[in-house]
Amino acid sequence: MSQNPMPLWYLQWVKHHAAAFALNNEASQTMLKWGPVFVKLFTARELHEATDELIGKPMGLDWVREHRTALIEAVAAQRSRAKAKEKQDRYSVCAFCLETGFCMVPHPGFAHGWGKWHPVLRMPAEDPLGLTRTVAVACCCEVGQRTVAGEQERGREILTLTTYEHRYPNYREVAAERESVLRAAAQEPTATDYENLNRILSGIRILGA
Ligand SMILES: [Zn+2]
Repeated sequence: MSQNPMPLWYLQWVKHHAAAFALNNEASQTMLKWGPVFVKLFTARELHEATDELIGKPMGLDWVREHRTALIEAVAAQRSRAKAKEKQDRYSVCAFCLETGFCMVPHPGFAHGWGKWHPVLRMPAEDPLGLTRTVAVACCCEVGQRTVAGEQERGREILTLTTYEHRYPNYREVAAERESVLRAAAQEPTATDYENLNRILSGIRILGA
């Protein structure tokens, strides 16, 4: 009866595992019998890692059953850890820029004509016109750093969040205040608001009417 030859990596793993646990020849023969199933289910890397994990763990006398079960459990644990990590990586999106590389921050406005930014970032109460004035700066995350590098390659300098924050240390406070003013304005109008609006509208004479 002809059989598929056992892949070399499996034989190497049997040798590795037997050596790690000082197993005898008979044990190695048994492990070779697991081969056709193990080769289908596991990779060389998974089995080597599983063996290394089991070293030092107490094993009973019924080694055939215990090793087999422990190996299968170790690979299952490896796979679930890998899956959890993959899921975590997928959801660890930069909260500042949402992986765009840019953050929108309050624009301080121009102090003396175009090009020279106001040296101080003012609160909305002192600068109502600046309420929705924003500017994009490069984020300090990995995507942001790639954006900066890409722009530099094209000979362009872009402002980074780090430099901006250094220049306007109160920007978070200003941004939060702006946000709350804008949110407050977006609230549902009350009955009094409608009354006031009607009063204003009735005072306007429409041209041509
Ligand atoms: Zn970012």
